[in-house]
Amino acid sequence: MNIRNDRKAKYREILRTIPSDVTLVAATKGRSIEEIMDAIDVGIRIIGENYVQEAEKKYEAIANTGAKFHMIGHLQRNKVKDALRIFDCIQSVDSLRLARELDKQCAKLGKVQPILIEVNISGEETKHGINPDETMDILRQISDCPNLRVEGLMMMEPYSDDLESVRPYFRRMKQLFDEMRSYSLPNVELKILSMGMSNSYEVAIEEGSNMVRIGTKLFGPRNY
Ligand SMILES: *Cc1c(COP(=O)(O)O)cnc(C)c1O
Repeated sequence: MNIRNDRKAKYREILRTIPSDVTLVAATKGRSIEEIMDAIDVGIRIIGENYVQEAEKKYEAIANTGAKFHMIGHLQRNKVKDALRIFDCIQSVDSLRLARELDKQCAKLGKVQPILIEVNISGEETKHGINPDETMDILRQISDCPNLRVEGLMMMEPYSDDLESVRPYFRRMKQLFDEMRSYSLPNVELKILSMGMSNSYEVAIEEGSNMVRIGTKLFGPRNY
């Protein structure tokens, strides 16, 4: 049996568990170009990377396929220029300062950049993301950035084997998303709610996620 065919069969099996109105992002940090190409081959349309330097090495091969490239890891301000050159969407905008730097560098490039705002819904200190109570205020300020287009919100839930313990975070996030959607702000059109990973995506979808980011379940455990 051919390794790549086996791999693709596994990817297809996981794709079948995702409802058609939910978008799958393959979280590909540490994965080879070959694994990524096989994922694109079976119909995965968005590749999510965490580190700008790693993403730059993979960019060309992925761009040639027409698949979209999303930044899902924390973005340092000194990597903004490089990130803007390669990413179709930056899901991990986690501060006003970062948003303003993105806006400034977009102006120089003549680019309008789709972004999501990352919300630290659990309030854990180890997590990135804006404070949920400040979401309205930050959206309003980012709405004044002419080179950014806010397309949604993103979150990372606390890790737990007990899925029922993470459900309330997804539920709270969906409530926040719906509340923010009820306001109309220039340059803000909240369509995407990016939440749910390998072990949690089914619960996240039940709670209203329309974009899930899956790594381990597609590609196997990561070795660091
Ligand atoms: C790695 C990663 C994922 C995927 O995690 P898995 O548990 O491997 O599915 C999703 N989102 C972000 C931001 C990640 O860094």
